[in-house]
Amino acid sequence: MPRYEYRCRSCGDTFELSRPMAESSAPAVCPEGHEDTVKLLSTVAVGGTASGPAPAAPAGGGGGGGGGCCGGGCCG
Ligand SMILES: [Zn+2]
Repeated sequence: MPRYEYRCRSCGDTFELSRPMAESSAPAVCPEGHEDTVKLLSTVAVGGTASGPAPAAPAGGGGGGGGGCCGGGCCG
């Protein structure tokens, strides 16, 4: 399950939540109980974080489906 980072605008704290992608934009409540939070960009997509270098993503990933070459069997 992917992890998403949020920031509380009430207390300024940042926190992470593991939740399904379908709920990534759902309201998150900070550990202090505040509901005024904003979702931050994924740590994977942002440089300069302490998460280290991300491995190169294989082409054709994404998990969204829809028109990929491999979906039609032409890749193999
Ligand atoms: Zn808070």
